Amino acid sequence: MARKIGSRYTANQILGRGSAGTVWLGEGPEGPVAVKLLREDLASDQELVGRFVQERTALLGLEHPHIVTVRDLVVDGNDLALVMDLVRGTDLRTRLERERRLAPEAAVAIVADVADALAAAHAAGVVHRDVKPENVLLDMQGPLGPGGAHPALLTDFGVAKLIDSPKRTRATKIIGTPDYLAPEIVEGLPPRAAVDIYALATVLYELLAGFTPFGGGHPGAVLRRHVTETVVPLPGIPEELWQLLVQCLAKAPASRLRASELAARLREQLPILAGMPPLDVDEPDLSEDPEEEPAPASPAGEAPVRRRGAVSLVPGARPDSNRDTHTSMRVPAPDELAGGAHGTARAPRATGAPRPGSARHRAAVRRRRITLGVAGVVLAAAAGVGAWWASADGDDGAPRPAHSTSAP
Ligand code: ADP
Ligand code: MG
Repeated sequence: MARKIGSRYTANQILGRGSAGTVWLGEGPEGPVAVKLLREDLASDQELVGRFVQERTALLGLEHPHIVTVRDLVVDGNDLALVMDLVRGTDLRTRLERERRLAPEAAVAIVADVADALAAAHAAGVVHRDVKPENVLLDMQGPLGPGGAHPALLTDFGVAKLIDSPKRTRATKIIGTPDYLAPEIVEGLPPRAAVDIYALATVLYELLAGFTPFGGGHPGAVLRRHVTETVVPLPGIPEELWQLLVQCLAKAPASRLRASELAARLREQLPILAGMPPLDVDEPDLSEDPEEEPAPASPAGEAPVRRRGAVSLVPGARPDSNRDTHTSMRVPAPDELAGGAHGTARAPRATGAPRPGSARHRAAVRRRRITLGVAGVVLAAAAGVGAWWASADGDDGAPRPAHSTSAP
């Protein structure tokens, strides 16, 4: 069933459904397009529509081979639609779910494409804010690159910012997944370009490992891990690639690479990654409850075995204050920043320390998006780590249309 979108576009067939609306295969004056029709409750929010129109120039101005270009914004009666380039292929989440882990060469090639896209966006003053596998589309009609990877295109620019207003967050409980959130966002700082680098490094880790470095379990614990936990090395990963990951997952935003440099450094590694099979990484062990379990003893003289672990939110749990956290970090001096600091918090867990939180629980919900219901818990939990979304301002107290208070 076709439907008209404004005067110039027809939406012919549903391509997919997302959190913000439905994506249609459409037809415009210049040929086939993808039309994202925003959810009704979003489209009927006058404030959101206003900001949409305001952001129009920035969104429409982004043109790059690795960015899904927004061609038009249509505000038509009750419809609010984003007209985009059509990408014939799949999204990176779907590919990851199919393959579980990607070969390093393909993973790096895909992430380098996205880093290129971010470099262009950041140069134009646009921060994406929602880099995750769902927002990377793989163009199956494009030429095959290193490791048999199709060109990757970043999509949903600016959408997170538009939808993620304090009022909107409360009204619909869309807060996204916490797995890719940079520590400075958890701490309530405004998102700058470096948050995209952190999120992209998280994606790279996930493509290689099959799980995100800090995800899983209670959303509040995920947020807190971003601030306090050290990323656990992946067995078999080439050292240079690991160093890149560590640098871009640094707690201090100024320590992370810029997008253009990240893209270049990733591409430099492609030749040594050629032909390497996916890493042989154990998923976090689901068969044990680590709640009471001490970290494995290390042979004399060797570094303790560091394990991925949750940080307990329960008062009275063993404190992690001995860790070098972002919270306790001082602000780097300008000369340190210029010198390419490497301030990731890498304090290892003390040998014998209990691992609070349950891997079983975390893994079970690792990939689940946080939606209605969990959000309330997140709000409560986030109070303990510093609210990362804006507080109660911006609520005009106006009555909301009945349909906008319900979940998607
Ligand atoms: P949301 O961000 O609102 O959750 P998505 O952007 O993920 O929604 O879109 C939902 C589905 O539509 C996805 O499965 C994606 O593959 C498909 N899709 C999104 N944008 C395009 C596009 N430009 N071309 C082709 N398919 C797209
Ligand atoms: Mg999306």
